[in-house]
Amino acid sequence: MLKLIPLVFIAMLWMNLSVEAADNKDDEQMYKERMALFQKMEAVTNIPWYYFAGIDQYERNLRFVRKDLPEPDTISIYIPEYKWAGPLNPNAEDSNPASISLFQGLGTDGNADGKANRLDGEDVLAAVGRYLSMYGTTHDDIKIALWRYYGRDKAVSLIIGNANMYKTFGKLDLQEKAFPLPVGTHYTYKNTWGAARGWGGRRIHEGTDLFADYGLPVRSTSYGVVEMKGWNRYGGWRVGIRDINNTYHYYAHLSGFADGLEIGQIVKPGTVIGGVGSTGYGPPGTSGKFPPHLHYGMYKDNGRTEWSFDPYPHLRQWERNERNKKN
Ligand SMILES: [Zn+2]
Repeated sequence: MLKLIPLVFIAMLWMNLSVEAADNKDDEQMYKERMALFQKMEAVTNIPWYYFAGIDQYERNLRFVRKDLPEPDTISIYIPEYKWAGPLNPNAEDSNPASISLFQGLGTDGNADGKANRLDGEDVLAAVGRYLSMYGTTHDDIKIALWRYYGRDKAVSLIIGNANMYKTFGKLDLQEKAFPLPVGTHYTYKNTWGAARGWGGRRIHEGTDLFADYGLPVRSTSYGVVEMKGWNRYGGWRVGIRDINNTYHYYAHLSGFADGLEIGQIVKPGTVIGGVGSTGYGPPGTSGKFPPHLHYGMYKDNGRTEWSFDPYPHLRQWERNERNKKN
């Protein structure tokens, strides 16, 4: 019996590895297919591919965190029936391009099969392309079109943020991550999720504290947009970065900011954003009320509410990945 254990263990390990490899291959294929669809729409509409990618990713993120929407697919843009068929169309499930057009619905036949199918990615993208084209092809035209469609500033800024990231890096796979401190330097951190704070009263602790020497570089863990930079009474000098999955990464108690760091700037994993410090718990500039550390938090939102989740397991994973890369 004892002899079996290593074999079973090796088999399990192998299964895990092969599943992971298959996933990566699937991901690569999926990104390729998606990019081909976006570039096709760019050719048809003259609207750059990264706007379609930005909209698609914004809607995909919503689907991961909301149960009232269908599961994400190659293209994840969800157009409600009344918008697709036209608000006055008596047939809410209409897929006939002629009658949809008569009722001024958005529904379009993008793959030339004679049907405007609300659940077909190519048809949906074509509908989005046609809708955007009504407003024009400049950045401002697109922002206006998005605002008219979503009716929410936040949706527009998230989509434009996504589009800027895609444009900057020229690819769809922006999932790579980095550890927030240079791996191999001296730092310590423990899993303290939900523990009482050592300082700052009785709010629960939403994040992980990484203790390190004053001034050690703090790096962005993800591709993202710098959404917030400034002073907060508790967090001191802090930075907020939103990534392509609409996860918000929060870095607090910094000694200061990296030269030239600006709100709206696009960063990648490893971009230095500031230094480890001990700022906070007082008016701007207050420092030294506790030992220097980076407070790192991760937040999700579903367009209605925002919640924090435990960064510790992710930090361990990213640290391990970087160690393995170095070896
Ligand atoms: Zn903390």
